[in-house]
Amino acid sequence: MTTRSTTTSSRIPGFYRLGLAERFEQVNQRVALPEAARQHFADTGNLDAQIADSMVENVIGTFNLPLGIATNMVIDDEERLIPMVTEESSVIAAVCNAARQCRSAGGFVTSYSAPVMIAQVQLTQVSNPAFARLKILESIEQIRQICNATDPVLLKHGGGLQDVEVRQIDDMLVVHLLVDVRDAMGANAVNSMAEAVAPSLAEWSGGKAGLRILSNLADRRVARARAIWRLEDIAVDGLSGEQVRDGMLSAYRFAALDPYRAATHNKGIMNGVSAIVLATGNDTRAVEAGAHAYAARHGSYSSLSHWECDADGNLCGSLELPMPVGLIGGATRLHPTARYSLDILGVSSAEQLARTIAAVGLAQNFAAMKALATTGIQKGHMALHAKNIAVMAGAEGEEIDAIASALVKAGKVRMDVAEQLLGELRTSSGQG
Ligand code: NAD
Repeated sequence: MTTRSTTTSSRIPGFYRLGLAERFEQVNQRVALPEAARQHFADTGNLDAQIADSMVENVIGTFNLPLGIATNMVIDDEERLIPMVTEESSVIAAVCNAARQCRSAGGFVTSYSAPVMIAQVQLTQVSNPAFARLKILESIEQIRQICNATDPVLLKHGGGLQDVEVRQIDDMLVVHLLVDVRDAMGANAVNSMAEAVAPSLAEWSGGKAGLRILSNLADRRVARARAIWRLEDIAVDGLSGEQVRDGMLSAYRFAALDPYRAATHNKGIMNGVSAIVLATGNDTRAVEAGAHAYAARHGSYSSLSHWECDADGNLCGSLELPMPVGLIGGATRLHPTARYSLDILGVSSAEQLARTIAAVGLAQNFAAMKALATTGIQKGHMALHAKNIAVMAGAEGEEIDAIASALVKAGKVRMDVAEQLLGELRTSSGQG
């Protein structure tokens, strides 16, 4: 039981200058954590405390999550093992199942647009925006020079400014810098360019420079995946392949037409996408923001994936979404687990990583839709969820599996039931 001091201020001058252990003490003085917490926070697991401290501010510890491997994936004729980091049960198993069911049809085929990110420069108080727009477009070579000068390393790797677009939104001009960021995610790279070129844009337009920041609607950097699931591979006990397919197509129509359903449908896709994005040290929020904005690009929020039948009646799934991920920069190189995850994946470019992630998103979507359209989502979920409940109820070691199976068998995966079963188990084994 922790008691929070109400008298101690959250203002801690110089907190950022302290070491991890000293910061912990400062926190502990205020919230009186249990004695075991000091040791718990001191153990940073496989992320060195110094590296953690260099990644973000005010660090007092690390937070471990499970990293699992999704098997069975064949992507563009290559066998790939997929490292996934998630706190949610069933996500990894779902990818394994979906991938197994499309292996006989060849697995996933993927493609990619280009590693192009968009930086926006907002210009306000432009008196003659249509005229100014053309002046800016005429200056593309100067813009290129200014932008590229900020990042000679990117240039050396074949990246740099590709194009400029100028949009008029009410009385504002919004300049888009389209930048090839090669194997980086690119946020820092394009933000630096936007800041460098903004004063010139303001001068040419006669306006005032406002925001200078990337857009996470990275629609020039989309990854795509498609796969076929044959009818004979998707049949389940009591349901033919045709019945499963028709149930899934009906589920898809629901997601395509209803934003309330689409939000959950797309969340399922992101269960897979975010897990591999996180495992590789990439920015989950950037990918998530991009995906959801892309899902609403036609004016109403809809499904990111598409499902239909081929001429033989097989189920065809496809997915396209922005995929701003890199192999360089951010935490990708700093976090040792992220580096090993990239080794496990065996990808050598941001493009390959992005394409792999799209395939995982599609696999995840297949599994969730199939479960929903057949047995319901809870059956698969409950077996793993029961383990979590058993642990929460206090089960340890072999007790966890015993309690989890008893919960599933009873059809009551609930904390109160788990506590009762655990009590009974311990009493019967003489521990109670
Ligand atoms: P970065 O600046 O750390 O690294 C990219 C740089 O690496 C390039 O600019 C280039 O100079 C160099 N480089 C070396 N080899 C390269 C190669 N082969 N290809 C490309 N570049 C190469 O990182 P970044 O990718 O510019 O930014 C990513 C970070 O920015 C992430 O941590 C992200 O969370 C963060 N961020 C995100 C947002 C957002 O809104 N999404 C905003 C700000 C910052």
